[in-house]
Amino acid sequence: MSEKIQVWNPATGEIVNEVKINTKAEIDQALENGHRGFKAWANLDAHKRSNLLKQWSHVIQQHKQDIAEVMTLENGKPLKESLGEVDYATSYIDWYAEETVRIYGRTIPASSDSKRIVISRQPVGLVAAITPWNFPAAMMTRKAAPALAAGCSFIIKPAEETPLTTMRFVDLAHEAGIPADVIQYVNGYGTDVGPLFTASNYVRKITFTGSTPVGKTLIRDSADTVKHVTMELGGHAPLIVAADADLDIAVKQTILSKFRNAGQTCICANRVIVHESMVESYTAKLTEAIKHLKVGNGLEKDTDVGPIINEKGYDKIVSQVEDAIQKGAEVSIGNKFDANFENGTFFVYPTVLTHVSEAMAIMQEETFGPILPITSFSSIEEAVEIANRTPYGLAAYFFTNDYRVGSYLHDHLDYGIIGWNDGAPSGAHVPFGGMKESGIGREGGLEGIEPYLETKYLSIGNCNFS
Ligand code: NAD
Repeated sequence: MSEKIQVWNPATGEIVNEVKINTKAEIDQALENGHRGFKAWANLDAHKRSNLLKQWSHVIQQHKQDIAEVMTLENGKPLKESLGEVDYATSYIDWYAEETVRIYGRTIPASSDSKRIVISRQPVGLVAAITPWNFPAAMMTRKAAPALAAGCSFIIKPAEETPLTTMRFVDLAHEAGIPADVIQYVNGYGTDVGPLFTASNYVRKITFTGSTPVGKTLIRDSADTVKHVTMELGGHAPLIVAADADLDIAVKQTILSKFRNAGQTCICANRVIVHESMVESYTAKLTEAIKHLKVGNGLEKDTDVGPIINEKGYDKIVSQVEDAIQKGAEVSIGNKFDANFENGTFFVYPTVLTHVSEAMAIMQEETFGPILPITSFSSIEEAVEIANRTPYGLAAYFFTNDYRVGSYLHDHLDYGIIGWNDGAPSGAHVPFGGMKESGIGREGGLEGIEPYLETKYLSIGNCNFS
């Protein structure tokens, strides 16, 4: 096994940097350190923990520009999106810095005069996180901020493709004054590090964002030591355009949802389901708007759509498009690719496919690329049926100004996140997560700190004080 992982720029194929792969002994030591760091951190006055989190956010913001540049170099996303992600990532730290001092227990009425009952909340312990490459800053702080706020210690293994942003965040946490054994990173391949995390008795919780198959492995492997798990897994989001929808809003929000991060977003619209009376006008408007998107290197100022992360991701996108065309789909725009297999750079132009059917892989699986298949429906019940016909349940979108249609869709769509006339519903203050095979638990908002807390119940007997 190589001792280093090379980090590539997916826009140019150049090596950006390389990171040392940690050995088993080093990872075991880090887990022991994390366990040791836990008690002191958990016992630290919550106001001090809160201030340290605020300071962490502050030092990240001071380095916003250079962090964003590193993120674009290793991930490929346009610089404006990387800058936005730094803000989005620190918004989780800011939110949970406030929550740190609001973790309340309670007393409840006892069943006897001589008893008192106290319910308290305690941190679960050392938390181990594994994150993907698509949002290397935000996927980290969505986990680290509530964990640290709750009083847990934290260790992270970032994705092999994008370790640099995450490492920088951890270094800046130390610079802000958070102890070295309270927040740590280790590097390595998921298949090597994952089993060390799940087998460790020091780790009390696994929090994972990534693909559903890996999530299932981690759930299974966590069973032996009965760890807490939070799973943010794959998606296959439907976007429904009802007969009365405002098309300008629907098209603008579709573009916002779909083409950010070159469509490599777990909540991005993966299939558009349009009322049969609107298919032509929606497709025409969408196609026209897509003509203005510029594909290229994320460091160039006017780039809207960056490269695909790697060959594996590119191959999946191309095979879904080929399969759809072969089965009768028509190309409204796109179906254009620019791949250099020698350099390892892969660009996919925004593509819209019409006349798609359920027999096509693109209607069944997550694409993770800038491709939009459009299908139609005739009744709102049929739209729901198409939308729910998937094992995933992360995000769904619909566009309508009819309250009854909107309420019906909200009630019947089996998804954890729903955008009504809104293609960008996430934020630090709201619960993010999926139903069915899209995951377990929520990140963000009030719900996001719960998975890092245990409940302890104290019964005091013989309280005959009078
Ligand atoms: P992935 O599952 O291949 O990799 C994610 C992480 O898991 C990486 O750090 C990788 O090293 C690690 N890993 C891989 N195999 C492992 C194993 N056997 N044991 C332990 N760790 C292992 O996913 P990806 O392709 O990098 O990311 C894309 C996926 O992530 C998509 O399915 C996407 O929908 C999902 N995602 C979900 C959310 C969400 O919040 N629900 C957010 C972003 C991405």
